Amino acid sequence: MNLNVVGGGLTGLAASIDAAERGWRVTVHEARSTLGGRAATLNSAYRANRGPHALYADGPLWSWLQQRGLTPSTVSPSGETLFRVGGQVQPLPPTVGQAIATLPPTAPVDQTFRAWLNEHIDDTKTVEAVIGLTFIVTYHHDPGQLSAAFVHERLRRGGSHVRYVEGGWGQLIDSLAHRATELGVEVRHRAPMTVIPHEPTLLTATMSAARHLTQDPSLHWTGSRVALVDLGLSPHAAIGWFRIFDLDHRIYAARYTHVDPSLAPPGHHLIQIAASIEPGEAFSAAVGRIHGMLDATSRRWPDHVHWKRSYELTNETGAVDHPGSTWHDRPAVMRTPTLAIATDQSAAPGLLAEVAHNATQIALTALDIPRG
Ligand SMILES: Cc1cc2nc3c(=O)[nH]c(=O)nc-3n(C[C@H](O)[C@H](O)[C@H](O)COP(=O)(O)OP(=O)(O)OC[C@H]3O[C@@H](n4cnc5c(N)ncnc54)[C@H](O)[C@@H]3O)c2cc1C
Repeated sequence: MNLNVVGGGLTGLAASIDAAERGWRVTVHEARSTLGGRAATLNSAYRANRGPHALYADGPLWSWLQQRGLTPSTVSPSGETLFRVGGQVQPLPPTVGQAIATLPPTAPVDQTFRAWLNEHIDDTKTVEAVIGLTFIVTYHHDPGQLSAAFVHERLRRGGSHVRYVEGGWGQLIDSLAHRATELGVEVRHRAPMTVIPHEPTLLTATMSAARHLTQDPSLHWTGSRVALVDLGLSPHAAIGWFRIFDLDHRIYAARYTHVDPSLAPPGHHLIQIAASIEPGEAFSAAVGRIHGMLDATSRRWPDHVHWKRSYELTNETGAVDHPGSTWHDRPAVMRTPTLAIATDQSAAPGLLAEVAHNATQIALTALDIPRG
């Protein structure tokens, strides 16, 4: 039987491989001329991902890739990591690391992360620093408002298992597309799906694209608004750091060429930066905060900019769960016996892209049942 997979991003391509392995005839419908969606890498001198992107080597997506020999070549974080805390750019204050180490192993769903931290950490400045640290695993302007269980899980996962895909996430997309084709999956480009077909369909995209296509207003969950700035700097830029976590302003910057020089022309730097956008804050103000953070670390950086791109995204960085809700409360994956919607804001566990991947596992199992 044929399975239609809508979307040729990371989730749709991985699901198409999984479905083909299970014996489905699979057609992938991708609206754009290129594959990858949010996991695409710029095909230019500076090979930027769509914002800072990391794989988590302790997660289900990684295991799924490993089982199929599809794990991309990756590098681990290494080099100087700086933190901006209380206006000072410095190594991580030992009190922050110590406070994290003494937190209980689990956190409650019903409490805010901030209230829960305040019960376990005496110093409010340390509490705010821990909250600032979780920006990059939630992309939320104030992770302290979110469910303690949700943020705590991300704080635990976001450490030593982080891996960066060499050459950018586009490398992973290329190898998934290659494997899908080998398995006989038909991949259609410039093929936007406008009507849901009657035969089994797995819709993979953002939750808002799924809502638009299905006209189902219940396909909605809370997400975040972020400002992204990517910089290509000449070799003369005297920058020594690898990463900066601005805990005061909820900004994250990584100079990826430090661990993967293939991302830019020889000697050049590629820096990718994400900043939270506060409710009511203008995008330009968030970009101003990013510039302020860069100024605090290296004043002459603007003299060395060869390439720059900046843009804003809303609800494209995955789900956030507020107190009292968990992933179980998000829009269900199975909409009808033949229509499944697997997004990174769906009712599935995991971190960022893992949510959509786990949602496809729920979908493929359920879609397999009527097929027998
Ligand atoms: C700034 C940023 C940083 C992130 N950082 C991380 C990270 O560090 N780690 C991590 O795991 N995840 C991260 N993510 C999330 C990750 O990028 C996404 O979860 C993942 O790429 C989602 O893949 P997808 O295939 O589900 O959706 P998408 O990548 O959105 O792909 C959906 C595809 O469907 C296509 N499409 C849409 N509508 C239709 C239609 N009607 N017909 C046909 N095709 C259609 C689109 O063109 C697109 O190619 C980040 C995301 C962003 C934006």
